[in-house]
Amino acid sequence: MLTKPKGTYDILPGESQKWAKLEQVFRRVCEIANYEEIRTPIFEQYETFHRDQTDSSDMVNKETYDFIDRGERKMTLRPEGTAGCVRAYVENKLYASNKISKLFYFGPMFRYERPQKGRYRQFYQFGLEAYGPKSALLDVDIISTAILLFKAIGLNKLRVRINTLGDKESRDKYREVLVNYFTKNIDYLCADCKDRLNKNPLRILDCKVDKDSEVLKKAPCISDYLNEESKAHFKEVIDSLDRLGISYVLDPHLVRGLDYYSDTVFEIEYLSDVLGNQNVICAGGRYNNLVKELGGPDIPGVGLAFGMDRILLALENENIKIVKDKELHFFLITLGNLAKEEGQKLIYDARLRGFKCDMSYQGQSLKAQFKEADYNNSLFTLILGDDEIANNNINVKNNQTKTQETVKLNELFDYLLSKINNCANCGGKCHEKSTN
Ligand code: ATP
Ligand code: MG
Repeated sequence: MLTKPKGTYDILPGESQKWAKLEQVFRRVCEIANYEEIRTPIFEQYETFHRDQTDSSDMVNKETYDFIDRGERKMTLRPEGTAGCVRAYVENKLYASNKISKLFYFGPMFRYERPQKGRYRQFYQFGLEAYGPKSALLDVDIISTAILLFKAIGLNKLRVRINTLGDKESRDKYREVLVNYFTKNIDYLCADCKDRLNKNPLRILDCKVDKDSEVLKKAPCISDYLNEESKAHFKEVIDSLDRLGISYVLDPHLVRGLDYYSDTVFEIEYLSDVLGNQNVICAGGRYNNLVKELGGPDIPGVGLAFGMDRILLALENENIKIVKDKELHFFLITLGNLAKEEGQKLIYDARLRGFKCDMSYQGQSLKAQFKEADYNNSLFTLILGDDEIANNNINVKNNQTKTQETVKLNELFDYLLSKINNCANCGGKCHEKSTN
């Protein structure tokens, strides 16, 4: 038997509706906050992700799916959305409009990781990107849009952790101090961190192996090495968050796994143990040099990505249902060949009018058809036999009140509509209404 590749999963009926709904909510929030969709390829030239400046990131070094295509070109399945977006932004000269570009994307990402709960080899991100003049308020536009989304889905056991990495000057100074500090404490570092010490010492602070060690906890903080400009930018971010009433904790050791960040970085954690090390469900920051590095003008960017898989796990853990159970307006059961043929016409007519409905294509067994009706969970079960057709009638069973009525066939749709709109439970609100 063929099986799915390690670290991937199938999204089956029952689950797929949740994905569609989450995507729909994201899109709605983006529309509200004026972010427009961009769709870029799932694979890009190898160099889009593997750049000189990225040689210390685990994701780029150890986790990418790289391959040579049949034309001998070196390609990479995208491990994240930002680099592709920036590539498209530059290649399509979106900067020429001279306005701030606020973009969103959604789709699968690929990383060769050790699979576990909330960590997969194909996973899904929804991301926001904003390119334009460096404004602290734009950082907060991105963060506050993430909060809008979490409010929209009702997930509130969250914590925003935020820090600044400062500009290059501040970071260079800090890097020097860190190298000194970690060189003195090199015996306490894991093998990967020893390697990071020379390439990018800041990334040691992001190490999942050493994260609880005293050496990391006592490491110097960037806040002591920021120049005035970097301090001012971060203060504006914090003040703006305060004005919007968005709570956060300052985490002076927060750095991000990717190397391109500068100034603001943040993570949003889901406050529960169920996801273990995978409890960061949204993360992002500012990258002031990426557009330039990919061949564009000197335009800064800021962005974030949500881990959709982890958000759905968090929703499940909180028992938050974002989709209703599947429900049809009606399900049709037929008795006799003529009824089956006429029934199919009725179903097509009803669907044209926007009723969610289906019929049984099982044989003649009433038992099997009723079972199928049950499985399909409908407000009404309609029963049509050859006798009913002769009398221009149909039997309508109301599955909520458990009563049955005989209705004239030509009055059926009006009858159903009036019942749906006056539903005893919801007055029609919980049932998606017919489109006409
Ligand atoms: P982590 O520290 O958990 O490895 P990361 O820093 O590598 O995360 P980012 O590159 O910032 O993650 O990606 C943004 C978000 O995408 C993460 O916060 C997480 O929610 C999600 N994510 C990242 N890698 C995976 C994965 N392998 N499987 C599922 N979700 C992921
Ligand atoms: Mg990672």
